[in-house]
Amino acid sequence: MNLILDIHTHTIAGGHAYGTIREMAQAASERGLKLLGFAEHGPKIPGTIDPFYFRNLIVIPRNLYGVEILHGCEINVLNDGTLDLEQELIDKLDFGIAGIHVQCYENVGREKNTDNLLSCMANDKVFSCRIPTTTIHR
Ligand SMILES: [Zn+2]
Repeated sequence: MNLILDIHTHTIAGGHAYGTIREMAQAASERGLKLLGFAEHGPKIPGTIDPFYFRNLIVIPRNLYGVEILHGCEINVLNDGTLDLEQELIDKLDFGIAGIHVQCYENVGREKNTDNLLSCMANDKVFSCRIPTTTIHR
């Protein structure tokens, strides 16, 4: 398999990983990836990034070491079927990943969990990217 992208990554900026943005991009370049998406956790998980990070994403270069950089968030699904990041900030992202994490979600059974996940996936940015399809299918 020839992987060209990884859009589910975390960095030290988000408080839940240990590589810097530049270290991650360099490693992606060395592995031949074309696209790298940073998806720091949404604000409801303890120890993660302040929502201001998502307002300030414009300072992160869109290309590092020859790798195209995408701005994302692993947005937490909450028990009421909503996401834990304001829509205004979601709108600034290239993509969102809907994530269920025990730190901010109580298991309410398969059917309700699925309903909550589907409700969050109805958001236009969740599981969607502004990646040109020609890039994806290379
Ligand atoms: Zn993750």
